Amino acid sequence: MPSHQHLRQTLHRLDGGSYKAYKDIKGAYQFPNFTLYIDYVQGDPFAAPSRVRVRVSQSVAQFPPTLFCSPSRAIALRDYLTRQFDQAAAELSSYRGSGKSGLIEVTRLGQEILDRSAALVNQDWLELRFVVGLPARGRRILGRQAAGLLCEDVTKLVEQALIYNNLNPEPLVQQVETAEDADTLRDQVAEQGLIAFVANGAILPRRSGVDDRPLQDQAIAFQSPPELEVELTCPNRGSVRGMGIRQGITLIVGGGYHGKSTLLRALERGVYNHIPGDGREFVVTDPAAMKIRAEDGRAVTGVDISPFINQLPQGRTTTSFSTPNASGSTSQAANIIEALEAGATVLLVDEDTTATNFMIRDRRMQQLIHKSQEPITPFIDKIQQLKQDYAVSTILVMGGSGDYFEVADTVITLAQFVPADVTAEAHQIAQDYASDRQPEGGKTFGTITPRIPLPQSIDPSRGKRDVKLKVRNVDGMGFGNEEIDLSAVEQLVSPDQLRAIAATLVYAKQHQIINGRRDLPAILNAVMVDLAEEGLDILHSSPHGDMAMFRGLELAAALNRLRSLAVK
Ligand code: ADP
Ligand code: MG
Repeated sequence: MPSHQHLRQTLHRLDGGSYKAYKDIKGAYQFPNFTLYIDYVQGDPFAAPSRVRVRVSQSVAQFPPTLFCSPSRAIALRDYLTRQFDQAAAELSSYRGSGKSGLIEVTRLGQEILDRSAALVNQDWLELRFVVGLPARGRRILGRQAAGLLCEDVTKLVEQALIYNNLNPEPLVQQVETAEDADTLRDQVAEQGLIAFVANGAILPRRSGVDDRPLQDQAIAFQSPPELEVELTCPNRGSVRGMGIRQGITLIVGGGYHGKSTLLRALERGVYNHIPGDGREFVVTDPAAMKIRAEDGRAVTGVDISPFINQLPQGRTTTSFSTPNASGSTSQAANIIEALEAGATVLLVDEDTTATNFMIRDRRMQQLIHKSQEPITPFIDKIQQLKQDYAVSTILVMGGSGDYFEVADTVITLAQFVPADVTAEAHQIAQDYASDRQPEGGKTFGTITPRIPLPQSIDPSRGKRDVKLKVRNVDGMGFGNEEIDLSAVEQLVSPDQLRAIAATLVYAKQHQIINGRRDLPAILNAVMVDLAEEGLDILHSSPHGDMAMFRGLELAAALNRLRSLAVK
């Protein structure tokens, strides 16, 4: 393997040459403390930056194996190293010429601890993947600056962020232990017949709609109502008390602006672990909990929404319902059925983002609009059947209608951000003030028929390229000639997840997991097993540091929003 001196000499030789000549530096270089891999060299100073990796032997890095001896711990450590490197790079990154010259960047990081491809750790070595902007003036190579970047700067970053003895062990151990505790809590939630847990002291509100860090100063810490308080134990922190939400139907009520949506959003994110200091470290939710909302305008392909929608105008079928432009209610029905098909066991619903006519249909409306004239069976008339037939629980924020009182197993109210258990009172009110509604849902929920996606309808090609994927943010992805809108899939938290999802769709097609015979649940199972066993690197032929794990539920959500999708 050529040495770092060789790389430096090459860069000096290239100085002043045309940018394309940078391609010569692709390869691996031995540094005193690590190996530098230059996997991809950008063709232009303004193009996507170059992809590089450093691999540090554990004989140099010396991370104690206890920090990565379980999947929980290893994921937390890798996430931590990514953050350390990111911080060190941000401090070092300097402008070195035109375009992205001089940039050193790892992937974008949020409040969640994710299983990312940016950092890998094992007994033998650890690896950090990042991008660099190879320096240019105009379109001429700045070879000396490039040598400074790839030799000096990268060496500094490795020393600052990837050598155990140079790190402060306290916050590192804290992150590893916090993640391990959260995973243990999530396991205990399942063992105890709960679907979610919110620890006392948790800080749920965020700084703003565009800033996911915890609200400072005015935040009121969470405190469980005594009736719902449970005690769980975790390996590092010991016992933790907080609110346990039981399986079944939970209603969250309360005045406007009293914290209902904030609680539900924390539960949505409780499928992920959070970094220490986030405030939601010990807010954990059933890993198969899916946020459901209305999403008018979305495409729907061959979904049996007949449990909720029947007898549409013009005799349109609802047992295999397709539309390029769903309404509020049909989109919400499709979102629920698709989530069930993909294995959701808990539905999270917020009145703020639902279709009213899908959620409620009161006595007066039942009188005025006869059932034969209303295609929608409202959610309220199916919510119990869903629990009985499929053991699917619902947590529902609903401050605007008391009709759900009788179907709820638990009613929690929020007043001034403080929760209370008002189940008995709500049930009493339901008796004293009968809604006089006619139940319209029948005895059973109805069948959920898995669909079989057709491979030819999933086409990632664009122009001359066989695969063209593009992700800029969490709101959607370019997939071939299509844009898949994921702005309503609210539990996606990182663009890296979207990149991995896009690549997984391609993988599933290329490996004939999507083959026109397998149904969607079997496809999800097959690809998720491959990813769990072999990691995200199976998705690309060369290493990529910009991917993060996702759930089968979100993979399905992306496929379901592909407008070209065809199923049988
Ligand atoms: P609702 O859904 O009941 O109308 P929201 O959950 O949207 O209310 O909360 C309203 C506002 O209160 C938001 O700005 C939110 O950040 C803030 N908030 C929510 N929970 C808390 C809390 N525990 N402490 C302080 N502020 C909070
Ligand atoms: Mg709200």
